[in-house]
Amino acid sequence: MSDRRWYAPGLCFSCTQCGNCCTGESGAVWVTDQEVASIAEYLGCPVGEVRLMHTRLIGNRVSLAEYANGDCIFFDPQSRTCRIYPVRPRQCQSWPFWRSNLSSRHSWEKIQKKCPGVGQGPLVPIEQIEELARLIDL
Ligand code: SF4
Repeated sequence: MSDRRWYAPGLCFSCTQCGNCCTGESGAVWVTDQEVASIAEYLGCPVGEVRLMHTRLIGNRVSLAEYANGDCIFFDPQSRTCRIYPVRPRQCQSWPFWRSNLSSRHSWEKIQKKCPGVGQGPLVPIEQIEELARLIDL
């Protein structure tokens, strides 16, 4: 039987490193205890310090903190890169292949306005898309 998911043929994506997804309007970047521990290890500082200085509570969930302008606390404005890229949270790893963005072609096309990498570059096969979408339910 053929795969009925609208993105079954795969989707093109290639990050242009514009930094849009890490900057601008305020938003949550959900992190687990394990992710906080990985960040601490990567930065070579105590877990408690990362928790205190780089995360915040939103309701009863933990998010990375952000600067007053909405930029992610780990975004380096000089180099416009992520300071914790090798251990970035699942939310960042799986962008733009979140369930909410995959829910329809319209949703996918809508995020092109924010993310110029969507629709660019090589075709990402559905197996890889699903693997990334499974990382976190967003
Ligand atoms: S908005 Fe898209 S293209 Fe820009 S840095 Fe984020 S993932 Fe890459």
